[in-house]
Amino acid sequence: MKSLVHLFCLIIICFTVSCSKKEPLSSVEDIYKTKNETQEVYYQKLALLLGKELTNYKISDINIENLIKLFSNHLEKYEVDGSLSDDAFVLASVEEALEALKDGEFGIGAALVKDGKIILRAHNSQLSNKRSDLHAEMTLINMFENHPELEKHRDLFNIDEDIVLYSSTEPCPMCLTRIAICELASKYGASSDLDGMAHLIKHLPESWKNLAQKNVPSEAIASDELKALAHLMFYSFLFMDFS
Ligand SMILES: [Zn+2]
Repeated sequence: MKSLVHLFCLIIICFTVSCSKKEPLSSVEDIYKTKNETQEVYYQKLALLLGKELTNYKISDINIENLIKLFSNHLEKYEVDGSLSDDAFVLASVEEALEALKDGEFGIGAALVKDGKIILRAHNSQLSNKRSDLHAEMTLINMFENHPELEKHRDLFNIDEDIVLYSSTEPCPMCLTRIAICELASKYGASSDLDGMAHLIKHLPESWKNLAQKNVPSEAIASDELKALAHLMFYSFLFMDFS
């Protein structure tokens, strides 16, 4: 009986260890597909993306100012991949995410594209304004809906496929619902399983689910590098001081 108890304990321990074992990060895609977020994991992701650029920075050196410098340098060298249809537009949203960080905000940006051209850009500004609604997408939609020359493109009952809202990361529940109501087509850079709502539409109340399902934001066709940057810019809040 005693040996049976020991065997049972051994099985439990082996099962627990195998479940908690984390695969090491090996590709840039892993940076935005892996969601276990701590400062240590964040630093590993940063090292994977930046390589030699991070050589002079230990994890204890990482703060928002240094991250802005590293992201700015990396973005300056980035060349749009013309084979990826959304790359230039996701880049615009990531550039806006960087502007948000420079303003002391959460690193999320957005861009509005009409007929293949970027016409409006915005980024998160909720902390400096103490306004919970000023997410990048919400500000961009406000700009769109207040723009006199774009009035003919506003249709609350039909999607105008010529206009697309790009956000650097997957929209949150609030922005997803606004996107559904305003009937803007929408794409996002990095998918964020812990924070984004687009892939969780099935959990909305029935009538909202039906509304949102007509217009589900989709993952943009852009480089893994840009999506990784978008992810890391957002998660830089791990190094913000909220006390
Ligand atoms: Zn949002």
